Amino acid sequence: MSQTAEYEVVVVGGGIAGCFAAATAAAEGAEVVQLERKPRERGGFIACGDAIKSPRDPEKYPGPIDMDAICDDEAVLVDRSIDQIEWWDRELDVQMVLPYADHSNVIDRYEFGQHLLDEVEELGADQHFDTVVKEVIQNGAVSGVEAVRDGEPVTYHGDVVVDTAGAQSILQDMIGYEELSAREEVSFEQPHYTHFGSAYREVVETEEPVEFENAIVGKPLEQLGYVWYFPRTPTEINVGLGFQMSQSPVPLADRLGRDMHTEPALPDAQVAERFGSPNKLGSSIALRRPLDSMVAPGYVAAGGAAATTHPISGKGIRGAALSGYSAGFYAAQAVHAGDTSEESLWGHNHYMFVQHGEAARLASRDAYNVAASSQSISLLRAVAALLPEEEVKSIVGTKSKVNGIGDLVSVAVGAARNFIDHYRSGTFDDLGVSNNDLYEVFRGVRTARTYANRYETHYDAYPEIRGGFFNWRDDRDQLDSAYYDALELGSADRKY
Ligand SMILES: Cc1cc2nc3c(=O)[nH]c(=O)nc-3n(C[C@H](O)[C@H](O)[C@H](O)COP(=O)(O)OP(=O)(O)OC[C@H]3O[C@@H](n4cnc5c(N)ncnc54)[C@H](O)[C@@H]3O)c2cc1C
Repeated sequence: MSQTAEYEVVVVGGGIAGCFAAATAAAEGAEVVQLERKPRERGGFIACGDAIKSPRDPEKYPGPIDMDAICDDEAVLVDRSIDQIEWWDRELDVQMVLPYADHSNVIDRYEFGQHLLDEVEELGADQHFDTVVKEVIQNGAVSGVEAVRDGEPVTYHGDVVVDTAGAQSILQDMIGYEELSAREEVSFEQPHYTHFGSAYREVVETEEPVEFENAIVGKPLEQLGYVWYFPRTPTEINVGLGFQMSQSPVPLADRLGRDMHTEPALPDAQVAERFGSPNKLGSSIALRRPLDSMVAPGYVAAGGAAATTHPISGKGIRGAALSGYSAGFYAAQAVHAGDTSEESLWGHNHYMFVQHGEAARLASRDAYNVAASSQSISLLRAVAALLPEEEVKSIVGTKSKVNGIGDLVSVAVGAARNFIDHYRSGTFDDLGVSNNDLYEVFRGVRTARTYANRYETHYDAYPEIRGGFFNWRDDRDQLDSAYYDALELGSADRKY
C-alpha cells in the first residue's frame, strides 16, 4: 500500500532551481519536501558547461542560500579564472577574442550542487532522494504527486507543487492544464519540443596546461550547433556541444569525439572519471523565451521547466537560481495566505518579468535567436567573421552595449574593416555566400535589434494581476507576427 506524506510545498527536483525554491520556501516558514530521483551522493551531478558569472551577486542569486560560503570553498572553483570569450572558426581561420571584463568561472558543478543541497537541509526542508515522481495529483488544482521512493510508492500531498524538474519537465506532460481551471482560458504556456535542444558534455584532462586556460571557447557546427571548451583548471576542461531539437538528430558523443580528434588545442585529452565511470553527461536545454505564464492553480514552474534559463549566454544557472527563489517565495506566501489559486501565485510571473526583470530581458534577446535560426550556418559563420568584436559582444550578451550613434558608427567602421579583410582572403567565396546574402543578414540583425527593443518594452509592462494577462498576450502575439513578417519568415520558421 502507498504511504502518504503531507507538506505545504512539494518541490520536484534537486537541481539549481529546486534547491533555491526549497531553501526559500523553508526560510519563509513553509513545510517543504524536496524530491530528487538521484541518490544524495550524486545530487548536483548534472550535465552543464559549468560556466557561471558573478555567483556572489545577490541580485542574480537572491534568497537565503549563502552563496559567499559556497564560493569560499576552493573545491567549487569560483576563482575568476576566465577573462576572455573566444570564437574559433578553424575552417575560416577566424579566432575572435572578446574580453570578459568582469571575469567568469568554470565551476565544479557537482561540488556546487552538493553545497546547495546542504544549504536546503540546513534551512529546514525535508529531502527525499532516490524518489522518482511518476504522476501528478490534480482535482481543480494540482495537489500533490505520486512517487516511488527507494522502490516503494509514496503519495505526497501539497498545497503547492513547485516544478523544478528541468527542461522538458515530465510534470508538464502529466498535468491537464485545461482541467485545472473552470474558466475558459488557461494562462500556463506548455512549450513545444522544437523549443529545446540536446546538449552533451565530457570533462577531459590534458597532460599539459591548455593555451586557452583563461578563456571560454565556442566553435560553430553544422545545423546551428556549437562546440564549447570551458577550462575548469588549466588541465581539466569541460568540453561539450549542443544542437536544436528542430533539426535532424545528431549522435552527440560521436560528433564531439570527431571535433576533439582534430582539435590541435586539445592534444592527448582523456575523459576524466567520476563515480568510477567516464565523466560524461547529456541533457535537454530550453532554447526559448521564458514561458508566458509559469503558474497554474496549486502549481509553479521554475528553472529549465519555465525556460527562465539561457544557457548559450551563460544565464542557465543563474536563471534557474533566480526563478527558483521566486517560485519558493511566492509558493510560501500563497500557503500562508491560504489561497493557492493562479491569482495568488501570479506574483512569481510578475517578479520574473517586471520586479526583477531578468525574464523580460531574456524574452527580448530571444529576438536574436529567432533571426539567427532563420539563417543558414554558412551565413552565420560569415557574419561572425565579419562583425567587429564590439558588435558580437552586444549580441552574445556580455556586459558591453552598443549605445548611441557613436557606437553605431564604430560598428559600421569595424564591419567595413573586417569585410575588406575577409573579402580579400576569399572567406565568403569559400562559404558560398554572396554580398547580397550578407546584406540580408545585416538587415536581419538591424530588424532583430529594433524588435528586441519593442519586446522589452512590452514585457516590461507584463500585467501585475492575472486579469490583464490575456490582452497582454494578444498584443505580444501581434508583435510576434509583425516581427516574423519583417524577417519574411515562412510559417515553418515561426518559432511561437
Ligand atoms: C550540456 C549542458 C551545458 C550547459 N552549460 C551551461 C553553462 O555553461 N552555464 C549555464 O549557466 N548554464 C548551462 N546549462 C544550463 C543549465 O545547466 C540549466 O539551465 C540548469 O541546470 C537548469 O537547472 P534546473 O534546476 O532548472 O534543472 P536541472 O539542473 O535539470 O535539475 C532538474 C532536477 O530534477 C530532477 N528530476 C527530473 N525529473 C524528476 C522526477 N520525475 N522525479 C524526481 N526528480 C526529477 C533531476 O534529476 C535533476 O536533479 C547547460 C545545460 C546543459 C544540458
